[in-house]
Amino acid sequence: MKGWSLLALACLLAAPGYAQGPADASLALLQKLADAPGPPGAEEPVRAIMVPIMRPLATRLSYDGMGSVIAQVGTSGPRIMIDAHMDELGGMVRRIAPNGTLTMQMLGGWLDQALVDQRWIILGSKGPVQAVTGIRDIHVLPAEDRTKVFPRDGLYLDIGAKDAAQAASMGVEPGDPVVPDAPFTVLNGTDNYLGKAWDDRIGCAVLLEAMQRMAKLPHANQLFFVATTQEEIGLRGAKTAADLVKPDLGLAIEGGITGDVYLGHPEETQVKLGAGPGIFLYDTSALPNRKLVALVRRTAETKGIPLQLDLVQGYGDDSSAIQESSGGVPTLNFVVPVRYTHAHNGVVNRGDFDRMVELMVAVLGQLDQRTVDQLRDFSPQ
Ligand SMILES: [Zn+2]
Repeated sequence: MKGWSLLALACLLAAPGYAQGPADASLALLQKLADAPGPPGAEEPVRAIMVPIMRPLATRLSYDGMGSVIAQVGTSGPRIMIDAHMDELGGMVRRIAPNGTLTMQMLGGWLDQALVDQRWIILGSKGPVQAVTGIRDIHVLPAEDRTKVFPRDGLYLDIGAKDAAQAASMGVEPGDPVVPDAPFTVLNGTDNYLGKAWDDRIGCAVLLEAMQRMAKLPHANQLFFVATTQEEIGLRGAKTAADLVKPDLGLAIEGGITGDVYLGHPEETQVKLGAGPGIFLYDTSALPNRKLVALVRRTAETKGIPLQLDLVQGYGDDSSAIQESSGGVPTLNFVVPVRYTHAHNGVVNRGDFDRMVELMVAVLGQLDQRTVDQLRDFSPQ
């Protein structure tokens, strides 16, 4: 919204299709979570949004040794771990060069072509420092290089410093976290929201809203709402949190992959933005529990919630870390479709988000000792 006039803002809020209005708590939460800077290992700003919402709802709130937040609701019944990760794609400052530019260690799965000519924010010791990844100028580039991707080895951050001393004086040093600079925007009065970090702040928002609803509803479980750290660099917080929670069942909430804009690749994914929440029947890291899949499909059908099924290659998620804990745990990865994950600018749909919350609440309402025992029963019938 930076630089917008009040009139432009009023026009946007009054535009057709903008159903929620400025007092919409979910919209405000989504904006706050998307805008919060929190690359792997530096999730503090996200934790600072989530913990004040979780603490009053929790029977007990604690942390694992990696910074994951574990908020328990209920003290008896099967142990259900509901998981979303707080970290986002980002980087760290590697080195300050003599000319004042910085090199960057990327954190998480970036495409090289997503890295150049972008704005970034470095979380320096004196506060945020704006940076841009420079691009080689077309006027000096050999013709044959004009269609090539710039490899990340040549990448640098320009912070406007004339030398290393000036860069250091801005409070920048090796190891400082770096995140995309891409503020949240309602996309032209539609129900689609443009912003960074939907992977997995959309999951964090589902987790918070589901927790708010479950705290008021009777249920037969110990629900552990877990906001994990360092997912993007190897599911690290989910492993350590699952060690402590010792779940009987695990439900991960993630950003899903859409196939509705780059057409012609039906085997990659067929999920569409705005067509409802989804579940993963396959990804590289995990296979879901088949009885749990059936339970979720039945629940969605009963509630009239459209459910998209997806199988994605080249994707890992926290459910696999939960799955392999405590001698094996039935899990499933739930997704809210995201266009353009792992990039500066992603798009989510508000209806998909709202229905994902409904689905999660409905599924949690189905669970009790008997149901969880059945899901965990592998004896031949
Ligand atoms: Zn993710």
